[in-house]
Amino acid sequence: MTPTFYRPVADECTVFHHAFEEHLPLCLKGPTGTGKSRFVEAMAERLGRPLVTVACHDETSAVDLVGRYLIRGGETVWQDGPVTRAVRAGAVLYLDEIAEARPDVIVVLHPLSDHRRVLYIEQRDEAVPAANGFHLVISFNPGYQRGLKELKASTRQRFVSLAFNYPDVEIETDIVVGETGVDKKIARRLSVLAHKIRKLDHLGLGELPSTRLLVDAAKLVRAGLEPRRACQVAIVESLTDDPDVRDGLNEAIALAF
Ligand code: ADP
Repeated sequence: MTPTFYRPVADECTVFHHAFEEHLPLCLKGPTGTGKSRFVEAMAERLGRPLVTVACHDETSAVDLVGRYLIRGGETVWQDGPVTRAVRAGAVLYLDEIAEARPDVIVVLHPLSDHRRVLYIEQRDEAVPAANGFHLVISFNPGYQRGLKELKASTRQRFVSLAFNYPDVEIETDIVVGETGVDKKIARRLSVLAHKIRKLDHLGLGELPSTRLLVDAAKLVRAGLEPRRACQVAIVESLTDDPDVRDGLNEAIALAF
């Protein structure tokens, strides 16, 4: 099996290794599409640990994560949730967008995130010690400008934090080429274009174009779509529905290609 492609941006792989060895849980913060999930996937693989990922949303509760009693064939059976499975298996547990989840989720994570390394299952009155190799990683998108939920300071202090952001043009070009095999010149133009758009404050974009969008555009180009059209469908239409903003973005594309 070919290893998962991950292009390091700084020293994040070293930090992950040390945090893993020292049993320090990690918090990856940064905008969507900047490689956080890919990073965790690649690190779990390198460490030879299974990976359990949970995409949290505003309905995610402690019960969803820990487990619940189900009625099966007239009998009551306990079913482990993803966090319990990860704790028992000594997996890397990645809770994506943790700030979106209900507050009771945080209560479950506290004893897992400190020296206790234990999961308390209230319904079963059971304490499950984390198996060797268990590692807790959470992510969140600091959305102070956009009214996204925040993580409490007392929770954040339990984690070693790594900031993810849009990479510089050289690295982003490498990522797009590595991920899609598209011609390097095209990848570079896409990255330069994204860097320009990220600076167009006056357009008032809610979300900026992420590396993920560039990868999508590059895949369409590789498949044979004309680059401007690829940028329109992969980047512009994904970022806005406003005709004026669309015009502004299309102008930037026309200059780039
Ligand atoms: P996030 O979890 O931050 O929302 P992802 O990890 O899902 O972002 O990244 C989105 C896509 O961007 C990935 O599928 C991959 O194609 C690409 N990507 C971004 N950064 C990197 C990187 N450093 N190395 C490899 N691929 C990356």
